[in-house]
Amino acid sequence: MKRKKGFLRVIALFCALILTALPLVSCGAPAEKTDGEKPASGEPKKRVAFTFDDGPTPGITNKFLDKIEELDVEVTFFVVGNRVSQYGDELLKRAVKLGCEIGTHTWNHPNNFDELSATATKEQLDKSCEIIEEATGERVRLFRPVGGEISDAQLGLAASMGLYTVCWYVDSNDWRAASADDLDAFIEEKVNYIVNTVEDGDIILMHDLRESSYEIFARAADRLIAQGYDIVTVSEILEITPTSKPEAKIYRWGDPIDE
Ligand SMILES: [Zn+2]
Repeated sequence: MKRKKGFLRVIALFCALILTALPLVSCGAPAEKTDGEKPASGEPKKRVAFTFDDGPTPGITNKFLDKIEELDVEVTFFVVGNRVSQYGDELLKRAVKLGCEIGTHTWNHPNNFDELSATATKEQLDKSCEIIEEATGERVRLFRPVGGEISDAQLGLAASMGLYTVCWYVDSNDWRAASADDLDAFIEEKVNYIVNTVEDGDIILMHDLRESSYEIFARAADRLIAQGYDIVTVSEILEITPTSKPEAKIYRWGDPIDE
């Protein structure tokens, strides 16, 4: 990227030298923009995707959705199937209404997920996708493995089911609030970490389990928007369409950042 920028700078300098060497033959008005041409609007907007795992959580996920509605942004929730069955699907329905998307984070969050057999893996995915699809009326396209741990065989299986296996590039470590001595300092530290680490096309990992995570999201989102970021879904970052097919790999970010 940096080398490319340097090359462009040399070309620009070269063009500038040629132009200044040309005699000025006319002093007419500058050429008008052709019809339909968009005015130059400066830099294209940077995009970032917030993702929230382990929900839905009554009393907490709604707070995230209130902020999402207030900011008019879209995020991605990776829900646990049996929590949807336990707490109901109203939060999922509201999230989808706001333009957010729902991926699966397995049926019951097995911590040894990457050791599961093909049959057990398929069951985790099938069962959770079913309850999400029933709630949202939309096909599930995104899958987040527990702890980001997944075997090659499971990656192949997820892809064959049409699921993009999505991890993250920026880990907020928001769940560590449980052991924080000073919660306010913890929240501010995490907000600063997210805002200072994130780059165009990144996927951020958070959890909609705690009030402190909501605070981190709300403050980080405000600051990123003020810096010119668009907060978008993972599907937008990865350019997923109804007909696109996932590869058997882990997706952590979108273009233009290469792995
Ligand atoms: Zn999880």
